[in-house]
Amino acid sequence: MLRSNMKRRKPLIAGNWKMFKTCQEAVETAQHLVKLIADNTTIDVMIAPTFTSLMPVSDVVKGTCVALGAQNLFWEPEGAYTGEISSAMLVSAGCSYVIIGHSERRQYFGETDITVNKKIKAAIKDNLTPIVCVGESEKERESNHTFSVLDKQIAKGLEDLIPSDLETLIIAYEPVWAIGTGKTATNEQAQAVHQYLRSLIEKKFGNNLANSVSILYGGSVKPDNIKELMLMPDVDGALVGGASLNAETFSKIVLGF
Ligand code: PEP
Repeated sequence: MLRSNMKRRKPLIAGNWKMFKTCQEAVETAQHLVKLIADNTTIDVMIAPTFTSLMPVSDVVKGTCVALGAQNLFWEPEGAYTGEISSAMLVSAGCSYVIIGHSERRQYFGETDITVNKKIKAAIKDNLTPIVCVGESEKERESNHTFSVLDKQIAKGLEDLIPSDLETLIIAYEPVWAIGTGKTATNEQAQAVHQYLRSLIEKKFGNNLANSVSILYGGSVKPDNIKELMLMPDVDGALVGGASLNAETFSKIVLGF
């Protein structure tokens, strides 16, 4: 498949299904998606259903171009932590990715840059690729604090990581004001932040890792805005919420640039 924006970093389109879909609905959506994008060989695709749907969806996507991810994990390997799930458990359910520090987890479940950091370390230890979400609120953007918020999220969230950790880690820039609101960052706003994030990685981990780290954009991505976003030099893919719930819509994003 010919794509207009071939970059050195392989694009990833990741779907975050949040708290939607029963097991049966998740399986049906995954089956439909797998058929719709069966010809895709050029980009990485991941879907992250709820914990209860991981195993059945894993059976559906095995051997296809669709990888499986989880929406969260706990950093301890096992123990008396009612309601939690470890990275090894996610791997055993077929996951290769895990979303960490989504703004909904920060907003409703008290996650902080410190817990994000612990979760990233646990994921990497068990060979799960962490997709680490960062991003500013509307108030922070309006008061010109976007970059200082990102400085802190990256400094604390990636604290004590070593360069080899960065080889698998993926960053998702998700401006909180654009998540589920229908408001998308303009291409220029996304590019400016992605470039800034890359410069933070360069300062912390050097030029090579800054050039190789993938930075996804998330926030009301749809079939009609993916192409323009992907033309931005520092946008390497997308983390898609609402528009990933429907297989046809999500397939148009996967095949749409
Ligand atoms: C998300 O939940 O990560 C997200 C980006 O949601 P939406 O695409 O619905 O804005």
